[in-house]
Amino acid sequence: MSHSFELERRVRIQLSDLEDAGMKRYLQVSRGINLSSNDYLGLATHPHVKERTTEAVRRDGCGSTGSRLLSGNRETFTRLERRFARWKGTESALFFGSGYLANLGVLSTFLESDDVVFSDELNHASLIDGIRLAKARKVVFRHGDIEDLARLIERDHGPGQKFLVTESIFSMDGDEAPLPEYAALCRATNTALIVDEAHAVGVTGFNGSGLIEEAGIGPDVFLSINPAGKALGVGGAFVAGPAWAIDYLLQRARTLIFSTAPPPAMADALDASLDVIRDEPERRARLLDLSIRLRELLIEQGITITPGCSQIVPVIIGDSERAVDIAELLQVQGYDVRAIRPPSVPSGACRLRLSVNVNLDEHTLSEFSLALAETLNRYVGVAA
Ligand code: PMP
Repeated sequence: MSHSFELERRVRIQLSDLEDAGMKRYLQVSRGINLSSNDYLGLATHPHVKERTTEAVRRDGCGSTGSRLLSGNRETFTRLERRFARWKGTESALFFGSGYLANLGVLSTFLESDDVVFSDELNHASLIDGIRLAKARKVVFRHGDIEDLARLIERDHGPGQKFLVTESIFSMDGDEAPLPEYAALCRATNTALIVDEAHAVGVTGFNGSGLIEEAGIGPDVFLSINPAGKALGVGGAFVAGPAWAIDYLLQRARTLIFSTAPPPAMADALDASLDVIRDEPERRARLLDLSIRLRELLIEQGITITPGCSQIVPVIIGDSERAVDIAELLQVQGYDVRAIRPPSVPSGACRLRLSVNVNLDEHTLSEFSLALAETLNRYVGVAA
């Protein structure tokens, strides 16, 4: 028992350190006008998606009962993977339990010990953790900086395969990676390009399949990871790429092999989401219009935002405590806005991560911009 007492003491000290540094996190239920959701297209509550999911649960039950390689496989997963691959313009696709698991699976499977991986400094934690699990050498390059990246790739003469890993629309900054330039560089240097489309799939491209489609670089991408809990409104994630690579993932990706398959109804839900994305392109257009409008409204209020036109609009606050205070002041006014702090973003770059979704409207965004401007002014006034 003395051992567990020591453990408790150690953990309690760490918890109180977090509290003192203003870094402790609390679970909060979403309330009010939602400006922090990743359900950008409103598909999580779309009637067609809900109906197809309900029907599937009635027909197939809840759990999948095993991993995909054992009793958990279903026709509905295979059909959905084929449909996703067609949409994404790849030979094949494989459905994982989440984007986090997909990134861990992909990176730990393909990166070997002689290899080198070039990773954007702002890549998501799941990409960082996937690289950590792999044995390859890691080289971090400046965010979205093609010149820095080209210099690093050209002077690297390791014996193995080179990989470049990036998000397409960055989760916390809302800006786009220069995919056409990356594609050309990867072609010239025989580097395998891996793109995490978490915040682009369903949102960008003529068919909505993501920034790879919009940039027209499909043939230059080795693999894409497409988390389906954001614009697709459900959960899980698709890895899309050549058939030989997807086949190898099925043999080797431990996060797929040793994990229970998602509930089969998730496949029906996602099939319905893909129907809506095909049949209601106006949702994507509305999301883009609202995103541009929110950016204009914030700029009119003198609020500094990072450049871009995506649905993710960060307002950089800096200090952690300040960011939390400002988010709380907005929550009291009925807006669900969250402060983002390290390790999600670098320290000193705490922010409000505003995200737009199609259930908002221009009037609400206008009122919110006023409320944010007043809150920022009031807070600075109080702090001064
Ligand atoms: N990649 C990126 C860029 C993300 O933003 C996220 C989720 N925040 C993930 C991967 C993980 O996806 P999931 O939530 O499906 O685990």
